[in-house]
Amino acid sequence: MNFILSGSTVSGGITVGYAHLVSTARLEVGHYEVPQEDLENEVARFDEGLRRARDELDALKAHIAPDAPPELEAFLNLHRMILDDSALSRAPRELIRTRRYNAEWALLQQMEKLTERFDEINDQYLRERKADVQQAVERVLKALMGGHVLPEPALSQEQRLIVVAHDLSPADMILFKRHHFGGFVTDVGGVTSHTAIVARSLGIPAIVGLHHAYQTISEGELLIVDGVHGVLIVNPDPLVLEEYKSLQSQLGLERKRLKLLKSTPAATLDGTPIELYANIELPQDVAEALEAGAEGVGLFRTEFLFLNRSDLPREDEQFEAYRQVAQAMAGRPVVLRTLDIGADKAIPAGEDGARTMPNPAMGLRAIRWCLAEPHMFLTQLRAILRASHYGKVRILLPMLAHLHEIEQTLALLRQAKQQLDERGVPYERDIEVGGMIEIPAAALALPILMRRLNFLSIGTNDLIQYTLAIDRTDDSVAHLYDPLHPAVLTLVANTIQTATRGGVPVAVCGEMAGDLQLTRLLLGLGLRNFSMHPSQLLPIKERILRTSLAEVQTHAQRVLRATDPAKTRELLDELNA
Ligand code: PEP
Ligand code: MG
Repeated sequence: MNFILSGSTVSGGITVGYAHLVSTARLEVGHYEVPQEDLENEVARFDEGLRRARDELDALKAHIAPDAPPELEAFLNLHRMILDDSALSRAPRELIRTRRYNAEWALLQQMEKLTERFDEINDQYLRERKADVQQAVERVLKALMGGHVLPEPALSQEQRLIVVAHDLSPADMILFKRHHFGGFVTDVGGVTSHTAIVARSLGIPAIVGLHHAYQTISEGELLIVDGVHGVLIVNPDPLVLEEYKSLQSQLGLERKRLKLLKSTPAATLDGTPIELYANIELPQDVAEALEAGAEGVGLFRTEFLFLNRSDLPREDEQFEAYRQVAQAMAGRPVVLRTLDIGADKAIPAGEDGARTMPNPAMGLRAIRWCLAEPHMFLTQLRAILRASHYGKVRILLPMLAHLHEIEQTLALLRQAKQQLDERGVPYERDIEVGGMIEIPAAALALPILMRRLNFLSIGTNDLIQYTLAIDRTDDSVAHLYDPLHPAVLTLVANTIQTATRGGVPVAVCGEMAGDLQLTRLLLGLGLRNFSMHPSQLLPIKERILRTSLAEVQTHAQRVLRATDPAKTRELLDELNA
């Protein structure tokens, strides 16, 4: 059966490939007591679920085309091995017989026991295999819970794997950086969630908010991810497939054409230079930033080094990661944002146990968390300072709202410097410290905060979230997430203006900086430094090269003054015409 689902585009482009379901079936597992007389039947049901899951894997493996991505076979082999391991089958049978657990619950208990041990493993590669155990178990759970039997997909030719999930966390997404998937689609999630941001950084088509993709798509089904229009086509007709393939090659040519702009300096038609920086999550992302001709790293989201592990990276490990980036950028600016842990990027709770936060985006996140954990914060500050000896490193503080947060950080920075002095370790004494403007209070109280900061970076993702009270991860309110809302535009425009007048450099590093529809508007509002994912950099540069500042300045003011949303859009369209 062919059908179409529509959602919100996270990352453009078109990909054709086969569905690879990454499930969260374990979330749906119920727990009930099996009557004494049915226990052996329940054990048999468990064995049957296991057998069906193994058969599914075998069927998938038997149909792998010789030119299919190598990851597919590796996945299937590993998952088959996990299902064959008696550690996964013996204990659940026991639990069914002795505790009268239903088969799904018994399996889930054993999976949790096994995966707990993974967190203790030192080797990062092995630690990350936890996700494989979870996925293999989910396959059994689906079989037990009446999930569909997998069809036998005809994997062939140039098609690739497309991850289909109900939801993915930013931590899941960062693991996917190692694989070469063709695309990502999820049922839930907002376009500026951190999951979406990481998906975008992979430079492959991705769509969120599809609502029913995970339920309705089967493993191995042929999919077209149309990231241009936010549409997912399941089992397309041959004609549609042909159409999309030609569109895909046109987009490929377009990408090649844009590559020619790599070394062209970004400047408007009237010769005003514009700085285009890259946002990165991991040190290895620097290669892509350089490839796109980035003149600096405007946002290194260092918290991604802290995800998918049970311990905190030590000073040396952090230093190596930061130094790697500083050196690779060879004297170009590298803005290291201190940890923005919390909300959707939570790390395992410390010794004080899991702090359950009723409203994590407004809780102990980012600078608040760092100041509550001064030992950890000092470790990071020392690592950053050490890296500053190897390049043009700057420190950026996330989620500022209060002057005392800056004061406390500066005091800790002095302490970190003193500790390094005592150890005789070199660092940049005049390292610059900037602040993110991503809470409306910071934008409104800018003159007060700005006095203590060397530069500013507007985090529009959170600024919009907090201004409009829209959870950026919640697709049910995604339609209300509006960068063009007059309140948002006013805060962005005033921040740029106040900073510029005060002689404090200001950038935008939220997703607005990489949105082609907003480039001219931001230029017109006075922005001269944009930081975005490398994949967005060249199209934005092209737009800048074709923009006359004199023309967009007056127009941008009209957009700002518009009182009706329809008029705002109309004026924006004119600006982009
Ligand atoms: C932002 O909020 O705009 C930002 C750049 O930070 P993050 O997306 O990591 O919250
Ligand atoms: Mg933010």
